[in-house]
Amino acid sequence: MASSRWEKERETLCQVCRRLVKTGLVVGSSGNVSMRLKTNDDDLVLITPMGLALEGLNPHELAVIDLEGEPVEEDLPPSSESALHLMVYRRRPDVGSVVHAHPVFSSVAAVSGREIPPIVDEVVIKIGGSVQVAEYAFPGTEELAEKAVDALGDRMAVLLRNHGLMTVGKSAEEALDNSLLVERLAQIFLYTTLSKGANPLPAEVVKIEEELYRMHRSAEKASGGPHGIGA
Ligand SMILES: [Zn+2]
Repeated sequence: MASSRWEKERETLCQVCRRLVKTGLVVGSSGNVSMRLKTNDDDLVLITPMGLALEGLNPHELAVIDLEGEPVEEDLPPSSESALHLMVYRRRPDVGSVVHAHPVFSSVAAVSGREIPPIVDEVVIKIGGSVQVAEYAFPGTEELAEKAVDALGDRMAVLLRNHGLMTVGKSAEEALDNSLLVERLAQIFLYTTLSKGANPLPAEVVKIEEELYRMHRSAEKASGGPHGIGA
């Protein structure tokens, strides 16, 4: 029964949607969020619906789809960016949640086609290195999904050229925190370039921090991978 399944996960995702609006990352329906639902034999995805404002979403307005995008419950149609989310879940088994939005500073970097270099420690330790810019593709297409996931690599964030930002995380809260972090980094980077140009961290520091990132990710993997969600 649609109404009794995934109750807790639906509530969590709605809370994350409200935080996205509250923190200014999303205006109206210009963003989408999903989380992986672990089942006994398969992975499913809980995702925001197409065209509805995120702020007032009701848990039962979310959609459950499989990794091919087929509906599982009798829900509203899923986000028009479902292909983007599904490509991440297929290619990154470590990811439990995806957030996509068009926040202002990240979008400025995406429009100017400039990756965010390792200018402060968090870029490397939390995100895994520079935030790359995926090549442009039309919104909602498989092509966009492929280009985004290629540019994402094994990191936690990617800019979508002339479009916006996508971040991932073990949980929906972590994916949201990564969006907030990248938006702040984009702001620091863009203001710095307006002042006198950005100086990256020393190369040897980046190397050490990349190692810290990898250690942190593999420790998470060892402790059970993405957010453990009961079927
Ligand atoms: Zn978008």
